[in-house]
Amino acid sequence: MYRATFFVVFLHHMLSVKNLTFSYHKTPVLKDLTFKVEQGEHLAIIGESGSGKSTLLKLLYGEYDLNFGNIYWKDTEILGPKYNLVIGYDFMKYVTQEFDLMPYTSVEENIGKFLSNFFPEEKKERTAELLEVVELSAFAKTKVKALSGGQKQRVALARALARQPEIVLLDEPFSHIDNFKKQSLRRRIFKYLKRKNISCILATHDKDDVLGFADTMIVLHDNKIEAIDTPEHLYHQPKTALIASFFGEFNRINNTIVYAHQLQITKTSGLKVTVSKSYFKGHYYLIEAETDNNTLFFEHTTALKSQSIVFLKQVK
Ligand code: ADP
Ligand code: MG
Repeated sequence: MYRATFFVVFLHHMLSVKNLTFSYHKTPVLKDLTFKVEQGEHLAIIGESGSGKSTLLKLLYGEYDLNFGNIYWKDTEILGPKYNLVIGYDFMKYVTQEFDLMPYTSVEENIGKFLSNFFPEEKKERTAELLEVVELSAFAKTKVKALSGGQKQRVALARALARQPEIVLLDEPFSHIDNFKKQSLRRRIFKYLKRKNISCILATHDKDDVLGFADTMIVLHDNKIEAIDTPEHLYHQPKTALIASFFGEFNRINNTIVYAHQLQITKTSGLKVTVSKSYFKGHYYLIEAETDNNTLFFEHTTALKSQSIVFLKQVK
């Protein structure tokens, strides 16, 4: 008896979500979601606006009661307000789309709020470390009220990490941060989480938040999990147009999905197109072209003259 219990606990995944079903009112928002997350694993939840990403994070945090199913972190069941007086757990931190900070106190006080005053030296070091992760060291003494939206978002991130949670739930965590800062901040945050072996569930519609960072990806659509796999697998074998559209421009040729970069100009082929427009994209041009009955997109190193006729072949 005792041994059997031990065995089950030992095999428990870190986060285990089973048959999660939820609706705010009558219409279901999430239907029968089942997935697992290991310690230190990074899971990205992607889906169109309104697909239920934020709702899923709120449920994982225990903000609402499930209609059906269950959520476990190790052997703690995550329960909603019906069963829990106080929402939230020490091992889990959640950065919402509306980061609620203390506006009239400084950045460092906001971050240090949850750190113990019994160890002032450690508190100081820890705050400094976190300020560096979110690149706000120069703003330590600035009042939060005086910060931009992106800077506030970074304070919220640092605050979530302050007490070393076992898992963080991040809702579009870089949405307010400008492109100049975004790339380096992403790398810092995800590196930090991996280094500390913190599990991360991230809701986003930005592929740059996912590629190179997430171990696993869930695509939410029609209230269900449309796909769950590694970003690599989903990229190489997108089962649906929705999945392909997340990764970039694509075409449907003979009912298969072909990314724009998988079409190349060739001397002659069965695929003859008339160029209609060239879009500058940095290291390539995205070319829009017409067949008799279809619009196609492909990539090319230079712009092409409108109305010119070219032949395309499919490459890997
Ligand atoms: P996402 O984060 O993917 O954009 P949400 O989880 O915010 O999606 O919303 C999913 C669905 O639930 C939407 O149809 C939205 O209108 C609805 N919804 C979200 N929050 C509430 C709420 N507090 N009350 C009622 N309906 C809600
Ligand atoms: Mg949302």
